[in-house]
Amino acid sequence: MVVTRFAPSPTGNLHLGGAWTALASWAYARAHGGKMLLRVEDIDPPRIVAGSAERILDDLRWLGLDGDGEVVWQSERTAAYEAALAKLTDAGYTYACDCSRAEIARIASAPHAGEETRETIYPGTCRDAPPDRTMRRPPAIRFRVPARVAISFHDGLHGVVEEDVALTTGDFVLQRADGVFSYQLVVAVDDAEMGVTQVIRADDLLGSTARQLLLMKLLGHAVVPAYTHLPLVVAPDGTRLAKRTKGITVAELREQGVTASVILDTLARALFGRVPPPLPPIAEWRRTPWAAKF
Ligand code: GLU
Repeated sequence: MVVTRFAPSPTGNLHLGGAWTALASWAYARAHGGKMLLRVEDIDPPRIVAGSAERILDDLRWLGLDGDGEVVWQSERTAAYEAALAKLTDAGYTYACDCSRAEIARIASAPHAGEETRETIYPGTCRDAPPDRTMRRPPAIRFRVPARVAISFHDGLHGVVEEDVALTTGDFVLQRADGVFSYQLVVAVDDAEMGVTQVIRADDLLGSTARQLLLMKLLGHAVVPAYTHLPLVVAPDGTRLAKRTKGITVAELREQGVTASVILDTLARALFGRVPPPLPPIAEWRRTPWAAKF
């Protein structure tokens, strides 16, 4: 049984990039007689915009991209994340880290650190520090990434991807000092426990996949999803769609009287053409035929 998912963060309105990956996940599930699950990634309270989860779900319904079963809310899955963290801790894969952001940045820019990675690789300062030491500040919990473990997967569009997480990100955070679980942990736990077989999402998350597969593996999940990372949808001026960009949310197009079928048609053409759609300017969305644009 094919199971896909669409997992929006409720940090603003559904934009066309999200609608595109939702359409791809929906179409893949429907074409295979499978299911598309919806999961609201509402674990980071300061980033949540009140009412946006409901608006995103409403826009998806309006587009006809219906999900199957109950919507999963990450804010209700704390026990599952705690259990996963405890399992990793029991197996010796976690440690407390009381480095400040500034310290991490400073240490990481030592001459030996690679240019392109200096901002993202954690240098391992707290890795072997005594766990019973007096913490300088409330600690974050980091994942002790095993050395020399190459994670290899076949991406539906990128082909074979191989990554040694120890070299690309180092020991990454599983739980922030304020108690919020990291995106990497919760997505690995959820995709595995929800039985997702195909993760379809945007290219900007390709670099997270190895970390998520590594976590799933060490959490004992023998069956893991396959992945396809789609090109990012770009705005009419060629720039990346940001939540702030005008004219690219489904809500705005709805308000302007653009129909759901026009939006789906435009996004579907881009999907079949496998091109990142430079979206038509909002003024052109009501004109037809859309084929001319792609
Ligand atoms: N919640 C993430 C986002 O909205 C997507 C997570 C995922 O697809 O893995 O950017």
